Amino acid sequence: MGSKRPRQVLITGCGRKGPAVFAPRGQAETAAATSQHRAEKITVTLDADLLQCCVCSGPLTTPLFQCTKGHISCSDCCTDVALDDQSECLMCREPETATRCRAMERVLAGLSVPCAFRQHGCAEMIPYGGKQAHEASCHYAPCHCPIPGCAGYAGKSLAVHVGVDHPDVHRTRVRPDCLTPLRMRAFEQARVVLLGHGCAEFLLVVGMDVPSGRSLSLVGLMDEQFDEFKYRIEVVGKDGVLALFGQAARVDRLARPYHASAFLFVPNAIWDSYPEDIPVFIHLK
Ligand SMILES: [Zn+2]
Ligand SMILES: [Zn+2]
Ligand SMILES: [Zn+2]
Ligand SMILES: [Zn+2]
Repeated sequence: MGSKRPRQVLITGCGRKGPAVFAPRGQAETAAATSQHRAEKITVTLDADLLQCCVCSGPLTTPLFQCTKGHISCSDCCTDVALDDQSECLMCREPETATRCRAMERVLAGLSVPCAFRQHGCAEMIPYGGKQAHEASCHYAPCHCPIPGCAGYAGKSLAVHVGVDHPDVHRTRVRPDCLTPLRMRAFEQARVVLLGHGCAEFLLVVGMDVPSGRSLSLVGLMDEQFDEFKYRIEVVGKDGVLALFGQAARVDRLARPYHASAFLFVPNAIWDSYPEDIPVFIHLK
């Protein structure tokens, strides 16, 4: 039945200078109870699996239920049990009545945990119940970048990332409602397009993700207030003009790898036929 050695719990007093002390489990619980009474916070290290549902191994979410053998299940796993008159613990299959585990609910309610993106710079301690919601929108979550070959970034918006981490990407200022040549070079993977003298900023992405050609797409890097821009991208070949019309989608952060919802397919036969100054035009309004 495992080690008889009491679990060691790391306790640090809050607002009190001094070294961390290790206390045997019983003493730690007493300290925790006392500290709760005083509404004082302590720091405790514990095995992460103690906060997991015995059935699905997901995070414990209230209400919590417990069988008479002590298996604690999350609300999702318990709902199924509670709906069934012949309720049984999904761990031990004993035909037992699920009862609320109020003690563990109280522990969870008083628990704060570090953000999973701590190593990327998020210093927040989040109430346990809000961890998933926080991490889904955490500013420090790793993001994907639409520029081919970029390993991604964290802790900033895409606009700032492109400006700071891609100094080699050329920038072209265009006038509204004016078809402007971008004179792209064969190896260019992206071009920042600035509209007028406002904050409207776009990223023209030259994707290599299509066979035998390039995929040209436009990403809006501006604030939410500027999401109504219409664009036209043209590439002039020797036998005609390829064109794509659309509305620039604003991208603040990409949680998944970039896949343009609309792109202009430019065959390599056209793209590579120009040693430089590839006749790519853009029109924005
Ligand atoms: Zn579960
Ligand atoms: Zn059980
Ligand atoms: Zn965070
Ligand atoms: Zn990047």
